[in-house]
Amino acid sequence: MSEKTENLVELDVSHVWHPFTQMKIWPDEPPLIIDHAEGNWLVDTDGRRYFDGVSSLWVTVHGHNHPVITKAISDQLRKLDHSTLLGLSHEPAVCLAGELAGICPGDLKHVFYSESGSTAVEIALKIAYQYWQQTGHPEKNTFVALGGAYHGDTLGAVSVGGIDLFHQVYKPLLFPVHRLPQPFCRLCPLGKKHPGCDMACAQALDELLETKAKEVCAVIAEPLVQGAAGMIVEPEGYLRRLWEIARKHDVLFIADEVATGFGRTGKMFACEQEGVEPDLMALGKGLTGGVLPLAATMATARIYDGFLGEYDEFKTFFHGHTYTGNPLTCSAALANLRLFEEQEVLAGLPEKIDYLAKGLERISSLEHVVEVRQKGLMAGVELCEDKARGKPYAQHLRMGHKVIMACRKHGVILRPLGDTIVMLPPLSSSMEELHVLMDALFRGIVHVTGSGS
Ligand SMILES: *Cc1c(COP(=O)(O)O)cnc(C)c1O
Repeated sequence: MSEKTENLVELDVSHVWHPFTQMKIWPDEPPLIIDHAEGNWLVDTDGRRYFDGVSSLWVTVHGHNHPVITKAISDQLRKLDHSTLLGLSHEPAVCLAGELAGICPGDLKHVFYSESGSTAVEIALKIAYQYWQQTGHPEKNTFVALGGAYHGDTLGAVSVGGIDLFHQVYKPLLFPVHRLPQPFCRLCPLGKKHPGCDMACAQALDELLETKAKEVCAVIAEPLVQGAAGMIVEPEGYLRRLWEIARKHDVLFIADEVATGFGRTGKMFACEQEGVEPDLMALGKGLTGGVLPLAATMATARIYDGFLGEYDEFKTFFHGHTYTGNPLTCSAALANLRLFEEQEVLAGLPEKIDYLAKGLERISSLEHVVEVRQKGLMAGVELCEDKARGKPYAQHLRMGHKVIMACRKHGVILRPLGDTIVMLPPLSSSMEELHVLMDALFRGIVHVTGSGS
């Protein structure tokens, strides 16, 4: 370790409180300090190169430091660094809103900006709630969310979240929600088998709304894949079924596309895969190509119109963050969308998705891999001690963590969710890079679990 790295590590350990991290054991393995990036690779302060196998926490789209995005930001920076959207407007926010209205599914024509996926979700929840308050149905005041849901870390988003490990401790601070069974077929909470079950987990929404629709303002779901739950791939048709049931009962549908948006599942938005047109949609992560923090909450004309009124009727949406719609972030997002079009990014995905599927097949044959799950370029590889009995490893063994540390030796950065190893490569990954990624994971698992197939 160079002296510079040593100094940085010491400062880090002394002062930086890392997210989702047990800081007591953090110093046990000196943290990697990333110095710069080259395409889909991260380079640490000692010059070691690593493939960015999780797109820097699910955000990188076209690779790091892409010249088109870099130029867009630096051009914008010379023109206007920041100006508020409270009472004023500016070109990047206006143009981006027009672009998003053009590519989002259905009638999502109105854009409310913020800075993180969590705030995009908070905003969707508040808009849904307020919509009914001022359109003659104040009794519609509760939400429906899924078991295993993850929608962010602010308190509204945590209220609709369904991951006990993250959310349980805050229970007394949260608003109550109706919880649907998690659409996780291997460990079906209803003890049923797909497809004979006829998606009873989705039908549960119909049963609930038969009696409760009068008090429910919206259903919120992650379309196709529950990311933070461990890349749980919902059964085909599940999303569409939920949406149809919500529509039937005149309950709003909020799609949290923060993780799935911008090509991750193979289409621009996961909702498109099942022809779903939500009333509200949360965007974040890949919106700027993974470069700057920008999020957006999309709303239909119906929702938007519910907020129109005379000044003193106070139907205004009283919400806004200081940096809402910052011009630099919007210019990055515009460049991101331009790259999608110019480089025909979506057309190039099927080949990569198939290649990932083939590599996962090989990994799934390993003795301690209980399940691999994939949708597009999002994948999870779940480890267990005893595959036949489905017996998980003891938590203190930190098998997921050990595997990703082994992958690091093979030049790949990954991050686990418990004992599920997440693979979420940038859309710009080449076949060679996907090979490096899957080979590292294969070898990492064999090394740590001590056995092959
Ligand atoms: C990451 C994520 C969020 C939260 O986004 P932040 O930018 O971390 O606040 C919300 N919903 C989903 C589905 C996510 O994956």
